[in-house]
Amino acid sequence: MTKIVFFEMTPVERDFVKKSALRRLRPVFLEEKPQEADAGVLKQAEIASVFIYSTLRAETLRRMPRLEMIATRSTGFDHIDLAVCRKRKITISNVPSYGENSVAEHTFALILALSRKVHQAYFRTIRGDFSFEGLEGFDLNGKTIGIIGTGHIGLHAARIARGFGMRVIAYDVRPSAFMAETLGFEYVPFERLLSSSDIISLHAPFNPQTRHMINKDNICKIKRGALLINTARGGLVETEALALALDRGILSGAGLDVLEGEELIKEERQILSKEFSMERLKTLLQNHILLNRENVVITPHIAFNSHEAFQRIIGTTVANIEAFLAGHPENQV
Ligand code: NAD
Repeated sequence: MTKIVFFEMTPVERDFVKKSALRRLRPVFLEEKPQEADAGVLKQAEIASVFIYSTLRAETLRRMPRLEMIATRSTGFDHIDLAVCRKRKITISNVPSYGENSVAEHTFALILALSRKVHQAYFRTIRGDFSFEGLEGFDLNGKTIGIIGTGHIGLHAARIARGFGMRVIAYDVRPSAFMAETLGFEYVPFERLLSSSDIISLHAPFNPQTRHMINKDNICKIKRGALLINTARGGLVETEALALALDRGILSGAGLDVLEGEELIKEERQILSKEFSMERLKTLLQNHILLNRENVVITPHIAFNSHEAFQRIIGTTVANIEAFLAGHPENQV
C-alpha cells in the first residue's frame, strides 16, 4: 500500500481527507513539518502532502528516499527544491487556483459596502439611529468599472460586473482579446482606464513592475470621485498617494482587503496558519486604520477566506494524489 503522509495538517483538512477515497490507503496525518518529523515516517513516505512552511530542501529530501510525489496544498512551490525533485523524478503537483470567485465576490462586497454605505448604515442602526440622511448611495448599473489585471480573479470580477449591468474596461500587460469578446469588455490603455472608471479594481500580481502602479504621479489622472478597490496586494498602491487622493476628493472612497507592507504574504492560507504572526498584520491594520475615514472600508486580507475556497484547496490536493496514483498526474509544476 502506498504510504501517504500529510504534513502540517489542520483538523479540518484531516477530516476532509478521511472522508475521501484516500482513506482506504490509511494516510498518516502529522501536524509537524517534514524537517521536524520522525526519521521513520520520512523514510517510509512515498507521497508527501505539505504546506508552505514545509521546506523540502535537499537535506530533508535525502531523508525521504522513497518519495515519488509531493502534493503541495498551495499555489506557490518555492518551498520545494525543484532541481533535486527533477533529478529524482519526483512529481510535484500544486493547487493552481482555488479562490478566483471567492476574491472576486469579496471585491464586490467592498464595492457594495461603499456604493450603498452599508458600513455607515450599520454603525448607525446598532446605535439605534434609523435616520437615512447622508446615506444616499449610487447604482452600479450603468457605471464603468476598470479592472487592472485580467487573470483568474480579474476575469471573474468582470463577469460579476457585467451581471450588475456595468460597462467593463480593463488593462493588462497580456490582454486576451478572446476573453474580452466573450465577456463583453474592452481593453484600454492604463491612463485611459484611470480617467474613465467610476470604480478601479486591482487584480494584478505584486512585483517590481507593478509596485506603486497607483502613485502620486498618476492619481491626478483618476476620474474625480472614483472608488479604488484593492484585493490584490497592498504594494500596488502607494499609501501616501491613496491618502492624498482621498483628501483631495479625487477618490470618493477606497475598499482595501490588502495594505502596503504585507507583501511577505505569499499564500493567503498562510494568514490562517499558526506560524503566521498576526502581530504584524495587526500593526499594519492599526497604522492604516488611523486614517479613520468613513469612506474607507478595510478588511484584514480575507478575500480568499471562504469555506468553499478552503475546501477547494484540500479537494484539489486529494484529486492530485488520486490522479498520480492512477498514473496521470495533474497540476504538475
Ligand atoms: P493571475 O496570475 O491569474 O492574473 C494576474 C493578471 O495580472 C494576469 O493576467 C497578468 O497578465 C496581469 N498583470 C501582470 N502584470 C501586470 C501589469 N503590470 N499591469 C496589468 N496587469 C498585469 O492572478 P490571480 O489569481 O487573478 O490573482 C491576482 C492577484 O490577487 C494576485 O496578486 C494575488 O496575490 C491576489 N490574491 C489576493 C487574495 C486575497 O485574499 N486578497 C487571494 C488570492 C489572490
